[in-house]
Amino acid sequence: MHHQDCSKAWSLYVHVPFCERHCPYCDFTVVVTATVPHRRFGAALKEELEERADNWPQHRPASIYFGGGTPSAWDAGELQAFLHAVKRRYGPIDLCEVTVEANPEHVNEHLVHNLRDAGVNRISLGVQSFNDRVASILGRAHDGAAAVRATEIATAAFDHVSVDLIHSVPGQTMDDFDRDIEVAGALKIDHVSAYELAIEPKTSFERRARAGLLQVATESTMVEMDRRSEALRRYGFTRYELSSFSRWDGASRHNQGYWSGRPYLGLGPGAHSFRPVDGGHWIRSWNTRSTRRYLDGQRRGETELIDGPTRALELVMAGLRTARGVAVADIARIDSVGASVLREHARGWSREGYGDWDGTRFRPNRVGFLVSEGLTVAWLQSRDTRRQESG
Ligand code: SF4
Repeated sequence: MHHQDCSKAWSLYVHVPFCERHCPYCDFTVVVTATVPHRRFGAALKEELEERADNWPQHRPASIYFGGGTPSAWDAGELQAFLHAVKRRYGPIDLCEVTVEANPEHVNEHLVHNLRDAGVNRISLGVQSFNDRVASILGRAHDGAAAVRATEIATAAFDHVSVDLIHSVPGQTMDDFDRDIEVAGALKIDHVSAYELAIEPKTSFERRARAGLLQVATESTMVEMDRRSEALRRYGFTRYELSSFSRWDGASRHNQGYWSGRPYLGLGPGAHSFRPVDGGHWIRSWNTRSTRRYLDGQRRGETELIDGPTRALELVMAGLRTARGVAVADIARIDSVGASVLREHARGWSREGYGDWDGTRFRPNRVGFLVSEGLTVAWLQSRDTRRQESG
């Protein structure tokens, strides 16, 4: 699966906005509905693919990712037809990583076989917790046993299965989270995404927290839970990004594409796209977030021009969250001031215990991941001061 020439690699993202309920912690733009417009949505996606593909490379994407929302709430036959349209345009996709996010309650033999026949080769399961109580606090529709069963059905059909876990949930004990890690480690999955719960504005969790009805985890709980997520190493996992663990060559190519600044085409409501244009600039554009407008063919949202220094910021920010780290040479190509400031900071960061610096590349360790935002801000401030001085 990992043998494609990646010199002009790009990725395809498809946003499926539908959900059957609104989870109390989620701030994504989703459409809560019991009646998904399966065919209309499929037709709109295919139309958008045809309309936009001319501006994109004519060879197949390195990865295709169906995210949401809840892609598994969308008819698998329609997903299959969409992938068919992709194959008609680009040829076989068996060398691509093709991921579908699925909720455990949707996973059954029928679904996984349909997805596999369609060319999907990776499933990402929104488990969040194998613990009944924690899953119910998070408003999930499954219990622990159902999540284990769904994962086993997925691993029987696919070599590449990822499980999402959330920690620092109100009411979740350290033991609860340790147990989640143990259960995940014992399953035949090759990827875990472990996130801390963020209380996002305008969510039901935020309203309850403000009313004093929700015991939000303290900073020290979050740090300790993060430390405990490292127990995945005992099961052969490597932490290759702030929230991502993989084993058996299971690192997500799609996500690595985002972190390394690879172009991507995003289809569906609210989906973002990112591609190079002339003059060393890049363009980020996004579709309307309204599914109704999207289905009516009024897809376009806004566009933003990304200059070299902004792109350098994005690369530093993403690089400091990954084990690969950030290379001075990659920054030097687009922002020479930023590159020399990075060289100076990286030396200090490694002395302070945030990672390794070999003179060309800074690779953060676990502590570095945790403070990556702070490191990015420090770099940015020094760079902008330096620019003002010299400019
Ligand atoms: S967490 Fe997932 S399933 Fe729940 S509302 Fe958000 S996108 Fe939908």
